[in-house]
Amino acid sequence: MRSPARISASATAWWSRRPARSSPTWCVELEKRTGQERRYEFPTRCPACGEAVVRAAEEVAIRCLNPSCPAQLRQRLHWFAHRRAMDIRGLGPALIDQLVDRGLIRSLPDLYRLELDPVAALEHMGTKSARNLLRQIAASKVRELARVLAGLGIRHVGERSARLLAAAFGSIDALKSASEERLARVAGIGPIAAESIHQFLRSAAGRRTIQQLRGFGVAMTAPRRFVPAKDGAELTGRTLVVTGTLPHFRREEIEDLIREFGGAITSSVSGNTDYLIAGENPGSKLNKAKELGIKVLSEQEFLGLIGRSDQSWTS
Ligand SMILES: [Zn+2]
Repeated sequence: MRSPARISASATAWWSRRPARSSPTWCVELEKRTGQERRYEFPTRCPACGEAVVRAAEEVAIRCLNPSCPAQLRQRLHWFAHRRAMDIRGLGPALIDQLVDRGLIRSLPDLYRLELDPVAALEHMGTKSARNLLRQIAASKVRELARVLAGLGIRHVGERSARLLAAAFGSIDALKSASEERLARVAGIGPIAAESIHQFLRSAAGRRTIQQLRGFGVAMTAPRRFVPAKDGAELTGRTLVVTGTLPHFRREEIEDLIREFGGAITSSVSGNTDYLIAGENPGSKLNKAKELGIKVLSEQEFLGLIGRSDQSWTS
């Protein structure tokens, strides 16, 4: 039997994953049936919060997507406070446990509702630590959009995807009004991440979370340098390859600059490449790009594209 839905509760079953990384194949040991097996009904709502559960295509698991689900809240707070997300120092696991257990935090945005006295009254806290924590939480309001997105714990949307999405759209509102197809067209964002973020932003829980965070003054835009205005807009969602030695930039520097303006970098030239930036001794990548009719830029032309071809950058 191959369908997981047909395995009944208390049946003896095993699965194998051959070849590795393929979907597992399930087998039920029919001769071990006792007649006591019951058909297993997947819940349609999360037992912890009552939100409708979702099964992603090609996945066996069903999931609750409610970011305020108490069963998930601890982990979400942990991600949200992470150094690479909202970077809220001092909000560690022990403190998160206390905040959730005592009902001080029931949803992610409640973090911004915390008041001094109840926090100071927690174990190992006191007024000074509580004040420091609240200061850290307040400081997190002005992190960039990419960090908010990374911190929301949206499936398949990690730090890197969050950065690409923030760079491509510039604000949560632009992101919200984008179609799933448009999201998937951002270089580096696959259809799976696109579906996931689209689903989150349209869900009741997702909308509520965003609205409440905004209400507390959490910034939902990318910093100006990320906003694709007329300068650099040409790079948003484009895929670039860099080859050869450039006059002014080391490889990591130019790559940072490309990412900053919303472009993605790949190591080899293909039909998906939009631009090849070629320096001295470009080698085979230049020939390949010419073969495929891909636009080749000098460093100077690239800087022109992002509106940075002034003396301060090129001298
Ligand atoms: Zn739930």
